[in-house]
Amino acid sequence: MGNGILVLCEQEGGQIKGTALELLGKARELAAQLGGSVTALVMGTSTPTGVKGAQQIWCVDGPDFQAYNTGPWARAVQVAIEKAAPALVLATSTVATRDFFPRLAARLGLGLATEVVDLCVVDGQVLGRRPVYAGKALYDVRVSSDPAIFTARPNSFPVPADLPDAPAPEALDVALTEADRLTRVVDTLAPETDVVDLTEAAVIVSGGRGLKSKENYDSIIRPLAAALGATPGASRAAVDAGFASHGDQVGQTGKVVNPNLYVACGISGAIQHLAGMRTSKVIVAINKDEEAPIFDFATYGIVADLFTICPLLQAEIEDLD
Ligand SMILES: Cc1cc2nc3c(=O)[nH]c(=O)nc-3n(C[C@H](O)[C@H](O)[C@H](O)COP(=O)(O)OP(=O)(O)OC[C@H]3O[C@@H](n4cnc5c(N)ncnc54)[C@H](O)[C@@H]3O)c2cc1C
Repeated sequence: MGNGILVLCEQEGGQIKGTALELLGKARELAAQLGGSVTALVMGTSTPTGVKGAQQIWCVDGPDFQAYNTGPWARAVQVAIEKAAPALVLATSTVATRDFFPRLAARLGLGLATEVVDLCVVDGQVLGRRPVYAGKALYDVRVSSDPAIFTARPNSFPVPADLPDAPAPEALDVALTEADRLTRVVDTLAPETDVVDLTEAAVIVSGGRGLKSKENYDSIIRPLAAALGATPGASRAAVDAGFASHGDQVGQTGKVVNPNLYVACGISGAIQHLAGMRTSKVIVAINKDEEAPIFDFATYGIVADLFTICPLLQAEIEDLD
């Protein structure tokens, strides 16, 4: 039976992401009930900053691990699992973990539950809570393998204020096989924006067909998002109409988001849109149609013309600064 918790921590420019810190906080809470220590595994740097809450940090660095690549990352996490022999492996649900964890779980014969929004210990066993049927229901899942692997949606857990600093990192040596190097990353193109990616954003302001044009999206949604420190998003109708790019689309065929605050402007609340955002902690809907389905899911609903309300909200928020 494994012991302790291994947490895969993603970083950017050496700085540990907030999504990794929330998992480290959760891992500490679970370790207090399960026993064992928390080990942070950081890829692509040997000098990570901001790691907290772990009893040890293992780093995997070198040209093969700088940019995400399926084979090397799967091998590195395999080496870490074999060395740590943990009871539990935790990671954030991201493009990278969605890609390589199924492959690694199959290779090691381990069970994997993805996209959980909560984790707890019941009778000494870890349960993960997963949204299913496009978010219409939640179910609790237990992974019976040793270790169990869970990936969690970003923003599922608060970051505890009192996480202690972690000790100095140690290098984890990972020997790659030829099969691990079947693909090679030749270039990485950064998006032309400095806002947080939608999937990790704590606050999102999304615009729908109700915006009527790209000019309106740019002059209403983007400034309101900037005032809130939010990432702009869009419905598929808005993306199809050219108001925003496909990378901004929230929903079943776009990105699944889980922010603390989701502001939906001129979005009707079709099931395919809800599939991408209904686990948001607080939903504010602005729609001039009081019958719009989005109001059934909104924490706060504003029945009004978005062209009047959004600039007023923006001015109020800017006045708070
Ligand atoms: C297979 C499949 C996958 C899909 N995937 C996605 C997906 O990933 N994401 C997604 O979003 N959709 C997806 N869709 C499309 C989805 O079904 C809806 O068509 C889409 O979400 C509608 O976008 P909308 O709410 O912006 O537009 P509409 O449904 O047209 O709603 C516009 C809303 O704006 C309101 N409005 C208009 N003017 C104003 C104003 N001045 N002030 C305030 N409110 C105003 C209206 O009352 C209305 O409620 C998918 C569909 C299919 C079939």
